[in-house]
Amino acid sequence: MEFIPYGRQNITEKDIDAVVNVLKSDYLTQGPKVPEFEQAIKNHCVVRHALAMNSATSALHVACLALGVGEGDIVWTTPITFVASANCALYCGATVDFVDIDPQTYNLSVKSLEQKLKEAKEQDKLPKVVIPVHLCGQPCDMEAIHALSQKFGFSVIEDASHAIGGSYQNKPIGNCQYSDITIFSFHPVKIITTAEGGVATTNNDELAQKMDLLRSHGITRDTDLMTHEPDGPWYYQQIDLGFNYRMTEMQAALGVSQIQRLQSITESRHKIAQRYNEQLASLPVVTPFQIQESYSGLHLYVIRLKLDEIKPTHLEVFQSLRAANIGVNLHYIPVHLQPYYQKNFSFQIGDFPQAEQYYREAISLPLYPDLTEEQQDYIVETLEGILKND
Ligand SMILES: *Cc1c(COP(=O)(O)O)cnc(C)c1O
Repeated sequence: MEFIPYGRQNITEKDIDAVVNVLKSDYLTQGPKVPEFEQAIKNHCVVRHALAMNSATSALHVACLALGVGEGDIVWTTPITFVASANCALYCGATVDFVDIDPQTYNLSVKSLEQKLKEAKEQDKLPKVVIPVHLCGQPCDMEAIHALSQKFGFSVIEDASHAIGGSYQNKPIGNCQYSDITIFSFHPVKIITTAEGGVATTNNDELAQKMDLLRSHGITRDTDLMTHEPDGPWYYQQIDLGFNYRMTEMQAALGVSQIQRLQSITESRHKIAQRYNEQLASLPVVTPFQIQESYSGLHLYVIRLKLDEIKPTHLEVFQSLRAANIGVNLHYIPVHLQPYYQKNFSFQIGDFPQAEQYYREAISLPLYPDLTEEQQDYIVETLEGILKND
């Protein structure tokens, strides 16, 4: 069997034509395609603003800045996420703390969040922003998180890097009903891709304006924002310290083409996941839990090994799958155990026990639209053989 990656982009001739057409056009950057992609995101999410950037990491950074995160502030997120969900706060000079995960959904536990908020309030150490991550595409309990944000006075950024195409309470992820800002990633392993790329959505005009400035050097051509009348037609003003986080026209054109297939891509992910659910039901693994009133974007299919029911270790199962050309992965190494975080913020083993337990058992199986039934059968048979090996 040829190598099967854990995730892979789905590219059609139409996608290729869309990118090539941009290359033949006048604008490779700062043209019409970025606004077109943003409009497509706004339509899909039913949200007021969408700001495309060169990555979700950049979008997380400017989202934190727009919400006023700076030195002396604390940002909370989940330890089971990609490091970018936490790093964004550090870029702003703030510090990071974590909330342990729910053992069933693997998302940030709302119960732990509430408990930690109560303790933080007493110590006068409440977070400025909380960043829930919709792990694997499964939406967090946003209504409850939003209620806590009102009670304790913090802002909410949804890291929906795994979740475009999903919905919560029958509304599309990204509509920001229960958050200030939502972030999507379009890295090739994610649900749809722009090669590199990210988008921030919000219903708040002021936040949108700030993020728009910050993604392009803090420069404006809007006379309403200038300190005085323009010196001439060439004039622009830098009114904040921003970055070059712009998305290119080729990326946006790919995004416009990809988002048209979002529904069918998400449906094919669900079909594959459903097949895994059935095929793995009798094996000593925990299959993903699906919460009610939501539809997952299904970026990842994570199983947990029932280690007390099998002979091989987690590492051995993982290595055997890789040896069989199955590109399993592990999402994620708890962020608080990364050397950078341990060294600079003195996090320790044992700080977030549910996250650490998850890390000892989790394996992401391959999941992407072009995964064939034959490949999937091979994955399941191989896994079964490894688990039954005694
Ligand atoms: C991929 C990912 C990011 C970063 O996305 P980029 O577009 O690669 O910067 C952030 N958060 C989560 C949860 C991710 O999976």
